[in-house]
Amino acid sequence: MTGTFLGMPPFPEAARRALEDGTLRANLDHATSTIRAKRDAVVAEVEDWEELRLAGAAIKDDVLLRLDEHLLTLETSLRAAGAVVHWARDADEACRVVAEVAKAHGAHEVVKVKSMATQEIGLNEALAAEGIDAWETDLAELIVQLGDDLPSHILVPAIHRNRSEVRDLFRSAMGESGVPAPDDLTDDPARLAEAARLHLREKFLRAKVAVSGANFAVADTGTLVVVESEGNGRMCLTLPEVLVSVVGVEKVVPSWQDLEVFFQLLPRSSTGERMNPYTSTWTGIHTGDGPQEVHVVLLDNGRTRALADEVGRQALRCIRCSACLNVCPVYERTGGHAYGSVYPGPIGAILNPLLVGPGADRQVDSLPYASTLCGACYEACPVRIDIPSVLVDLRAQVVDAHRGGLPGPEAVAMKAASRVLASGRLLALAERLTTPVLRIARYVGASAWTRGRELPAAPAETFRTWWRRKEGTS
Ligand code: SF4
Repeated sequence: MTGTFLGMPPFPEAARRALEDGTLRANLDHATSTIRAKRDAVVAEVEDWEELRLAGAAIKDDVLLRLDEHLLTLETSLRAAGAVVHWARDADEACRVVAEVAKAHGAHEVVKVKSMATQEIGLNEALAAEGIDAWETDLAELIVQLGDDLPSHILVPAIHRNRSEVRDLFRSAMGESGVPAPDDLTDDPARLAEAARLHLREKFLRAKVAVSGANFAVADTGTLVVVESEGNGRMCLTLPEVLVSVVGVEKVVPSWQDLEVFFQLLPRSSTGERMNPYTSTWTGIHTGDGPQEVHVVLLDNGRTRALADEVGRQALRCIRCSACLNVCPVYERTGGHAYGSVYPGPIGAILNPLLVGPGADRQVDSLPYASTLCGACYEACPVRIDIPSVLVDLRAQVVDAHRGGLPGPEAVAMKAASRVLASGRLLALAERLTTPVLRIARYVGASAWTRGRELPAAPAETFRTWWRRKEGTS
């Protein structure tokens, strides 16, 4: 695995390779079934869970329908609280802002709070190109970074690694970028966490600049909110002198009151906890307390494109809880890398095509097909994103995007099938040919079709022959 998703093969190819990795499947099976059981138990405790889901969806829908108004309110509130607001159309613009802020303070390193938005824009790589080291401080992100690996889950980016793999990684890689792991490190979780704590503490205390995302941005007060489990986020948000927060434009919520709904939905759906251990909120600058310079980068990067898609815009409700990943039978078997993006699983299968647009990239075009359409993701989603419907709509968009030019084998087969199905005579002929064709196919060996599916056994006689025999008409 290299440190970039660029150039990843389409999903079917990447998934086939992942399916051959027995350790990966065992790690995923263990991790997802554990999180699923925890989530189911704490969700069952909440009597009005369905009403909460409806409320979450309604708040997000309102935000999306009046996004321009809410964003302008947020900008005004942020400025009034002393923050500097930047608007970024794409990844390049956002990365440039962060690099310029770091350089303006002579910083050659930044500490980072776990953030999907900064991964989406490839911030670490962009900063590295400017000679700035970006240190991930979330434990799972640290594991991914030390291994020059890629995240494979929204919430638990190193879900594909087991404890002994992590111990080996800490021993071999920690010393290269700071405080080394102790020689006698075992795979005991407490010992691993202690090694990470010692490694990171040095970086927290030294860094002048921190970079974060935000789970929510409250428009009427200009408050940014980060929820996390380890306390590393709190350290990054309070210790450094300068803070840059990269926030997707869909993260805005109108008021504090709306947080009441999401603070119930998010922890139960993501970590299976009743509440998350750390909730940090910051509103601009407070003299002598926390960062004395705060920059907020409001990021589009395809979100307004997704917003214009009437069926797909509901994907922007996503609060990145990862519940849909943990229940997805496809994700559980292939893992996250096969999706070729920081957004894997069911939400990745719709969000990536919506952000980029169909027809632009073969790998992204393959994602709406990475699903059985079983509907488990819709059931689990705390903001009721109807992922299966969006998948079906996106499949149609992908087909439309590839119309014109030479037709592919699937289009040729469908055209031929429509001719045959429209004619009783041709259908009867096709039925007679089915049995010998299926028998021959068995001997011809594996094809692209049979690699992933059982070839049905050839029937002894066609329906028409059986009918005539039964009725005595032949
Ligand atoms: S789509 Fe729904 S279930 Fe999946 S990560 Fe987003 S909010 Fe969670």
